[in-house]
Amino acid sequence: MVIEVIIGSHVNFNSEQLLGSAKSAVSYGANTFMFYTGAPQNTIRKDIDVNLTEEAFTYMKENGIDIKNVICHAPYIINLANKEKEESWNFSISFVKNELTRIKKMNVSYMVLHPGNSLKLDRMTALANIAEALNLILEDDSPMILLETMAGKGTECGINLYELKEILNGVEKKEHVGICLDTCHLNDSGVDIAAFDDYLKEFDECIGIDKIKCVHVNDSKNVIGSHKDRHANIGYGTIGFDNLINVLYNPKLKDVPKILETPWVGDYPPYKLEIDMIKSKKFNPNLEADLKELYK
Ligand code: FE
Ligand code: FE
Ligand code: ZN
Repeated sequence: MVIEVIIGSHVNFNSEQLLGSAKSAVSYGANTFMFYTGAPQNTIRKDIDVNLTEEAFTYMKENGIDIKNVICHAPYIINLANKEKEESWNFSISFVKNELTRIKKMNVSYMVLHPGNSLKLDRMTALANIAEALNLILEDDSPMILLETMAGKGTECGINLYELKEILNGVEKKEHVGICLDTCHLNDSGVDIAAFDDYLKEFDECIGIDKIKCVHVNDSKNVIGSHKDRHANIGYGTIGFDNLINVLYNPKLKDVPKILETPWVGDYPPYKLEIDMIKSKKFNPNLEADLKELYK
C-alpha cells in the first residue's frame, strides 16, 4: 500500500491573503498549508477579501490543494486558561470567535489553538476555564478548534493526555473540538516519538484517535522531557529523521494533514527541501548549502 502524505508548512498570509498563502505552499511542493491570519504575536487583523478568496479557491483546485486540509493557527497571546484578569479572558474569547468567523469565510475547517497558560492558578481551575471559554466561543456552525499538545514550558496547559481529556470533558459541543499533535512538543513533554505507535494507542484509549485532525511535524533541539519547545529542522534534532518519517507515514493518520513549523535556515524557508526529503524518505545532510543554491 502506497501512502500519499498530506504535507505542508506554515506559510505567510500577506496582502494576497489566502491566494498568497496557497502560492507559497505550491512553491514548496506542498499539497496543504497552515497560516495565521496576521502576525502570530499580535491580534491585529484585516478583513477577508472575497475576490482574493475566490481566486485562491481556483488556484488551489488547479494545484491539487484541498481546502479541507488547510489549517489556521490562532495567535500565541490568546489565553483561555486564566481569567484573573476578566478583560483579557473576555478579549481572548471574542478574538477567537471573530477568528472563527473570518476563517469560515475562507471555508477553512480547522483552527489550532494553544490551550493556554495557567499562570498562578491551580491546574484544574485553569483547565475548567479553558472548557468554559470554549463553551462561550463555539456555535453550531463553528469551524473545529484543535487544541495543541504543548511542551510544558512555563505554565502551559495541555501537556499530557490527562489534561487534554479534562478540557474535552468540559466542552459541550464536543464535535467542534479536536487535537493537533506537535512532535517537538510531545518530545519535550516527555513522549518518546521512537515509540509513537504506543503513544497513539494510549491516545486512542484516552481520547479517541479520530480526534487527531492535524500533526505539526517538527524535530526538537532538546532532549525528551526538557519542557523547552525549540523546533529543529527535520532530521536535525533529537527526534531524528526516521522517527519523524514513521509519524508522517503512519497508516492510522493517513488522512490527517501534516504541517512543518521548522525554523528558517539563515534567510531561507527550509520547507521545499524538507518536503523533498519527506516525499523521497531520504535525509538531506546538506540542507543549508542546498537552500543557498536553491534561493540564490
Ligand atoms: Fe502551535
Ligand atoms: Fe506546533
Ligand atoms: Zn512549538
